[in-house]
Amino acid sequence: MKVAIVGAGLTGMSCALELEGYADVVVFEKNDVGGLASSYCTESYCIEKFYHHCFKGDKELIELAKNLGLKITWRIARTGYAFDGKIYPLNTPIEILKYPHLSLLDKIKLAVFTLKSRRRDYTREDNRGVVDGIKEELGEEILNKFFMPLLRAKFGEYYKEVSYAWLLARVAIRSNRKLSGEELGYVRRGFHELIVRMSEGLNVRNEEVKKIEKIGGKFEVNGERFDVVVYTAPLPTLDEKIKKAAGIPDIKYQSSVCALIGAKESVTEDIYWTNVADSKVFGAIIEHTHFMPFEDYGEHVIYLASYSAPNGWLFNKSNDELRKLYLKEVSRFGLSDKDVNWIVIFKAKYSGPIYEKGYLGKITPYRTKLKGFYVAGMTSPPNYPERSMNGSIKAGIEVARAVKEDLS
Ligand SMILES: Cc1cc2nc3c(=O)[nH]c(=O)nc-3n(C[C@H](O)[C@H](O)[C@H](O)COP(=O)(O)OP(=O)(O)OC[C@H]3O[C@@H](n4cnc5c(N)ncnc54)[C@H](O)[C@@H]3O)c2cc1C
Repeated sequence: MKVAIVGAGLTGMSCALELEGYADVVVFEKNDVGGLASSYCTESYCIEKFYHHCFKGDKELIELAKNLGLKITWRIARTGYAFDGKIYPLNTPIEILKYPHLSLLDKIKLAVFTLKSRRRDYTREDNRGVVDGIKEELGEEILNKFFMPLLRAKFGEYYKEVSYAWLLARVAIRSNRKLSGEELGYVRRGFHELIVRMSEGLNVRNEEVKKIEKIGGKFEVNGERFDVVVYTAPLPTLDEKIKKAAGIPDIKYQSSVCALIGAKESVTEDIYWTNVADSKVFGAIIEHTHFMPFEDYGEHVIYLASYSAPNGWLFNKSNDELRKLYLKEVSRFGLSDKDVNWIVIFKAKYSGPIYEKGYLGKITPYRTKLKGFYVAGMTSPPNYPERSMNGSIKAGIEVARAVKEDLS
């Protein structure tokens, strides 16, 4: 049996690994193997184009890394919140109590909300907007001073369309923190190692899929015959005719824009992830070398992260304009041009679904209405409420099992 997998991201590769020995598999990849989790390599090290870490609950990722002979290093990653140009660490109870932009009552409300979120049935809130939900349950102050900047940073122009169910589910999965902060994982020398080891031995073809046609009981992918197609690329790029026949709903995606910087100086004292409330350019400063040792890199590695709509102003600026814009904005936080060794801009047009109102009804099952055509990736069940490396690895495994089940 011949299987075509469209996309050599984590979903496509984990699907191909699961089908090994069962089918003759070709993985088509138009760009870099690893997709959104791929890396940029300097002369001395490789680093993800977009910041990446994993979580203690990432069962499939941890197991895959172990099987490929890789060790995951766990570290407490400190977080902070930048407000009015000042950075506040927000990890320990004392740091949270000291934070001046929320009243004690609002902090207590937030703590109770977080604790209760684990026991709530979020699905009932899928048709309610996140802004209304927060306003009604927690009040205007918490909405405007705490959540609104985070929502804007996470969803750009789309934040008003996000469902309250998404926030509740997201808070629930991320509420399991230690008092000193959250323990996050990373493969020393980068997830690049994982991607290289996954791809070894796979039949990955550096070719963009431009045409998929159903002919009789088979498929033609760029003119070549296959029994089965597993589509793991972003759904907006799928041919409309196939999409309709397969019964795939329209799902909105957001874009990512990220400046990756190698620097002589750092921006924060010791914080890995700083949410930035008052910037129109980036929503977070992520200092990778406050998570992994500086010695592994020999310079500070810093991301300035933004989300945008695919047709938004930020995504459509040239890289040159973006470099200037990010450097000007980060200088507000004390990093000047002379501290910067290099800066590279990375953009991804379809970097994740928007978890809009009614999204739970749009999560895509692996099997579609078009027999032999399967869909897996960031819109699959394991990638709700947050798309992740683990969610995509799990989706890849599960779609391959569906293929095997149907054809054996
Ligand atoms: C800014 C950012 C930060 C993130 N941080 C984290 C994190 O800290 N932790 C975490 O767990 N996850 C994180 N993620 C999410 C994680 O990277 C993704 O969920 C995961 O990598 C998606 O894998 P995928 O295979 O489903 O999709 P993709 O990576 O999008 O793979 C799809 C592949 O299909 C290819 N393709 C598209 N069209 C075609 C075509 N026509 N023909 C052939 N190939 C095609 C693409 O080039 C791509 O390689 C982050 C993502 C972003 C954008």
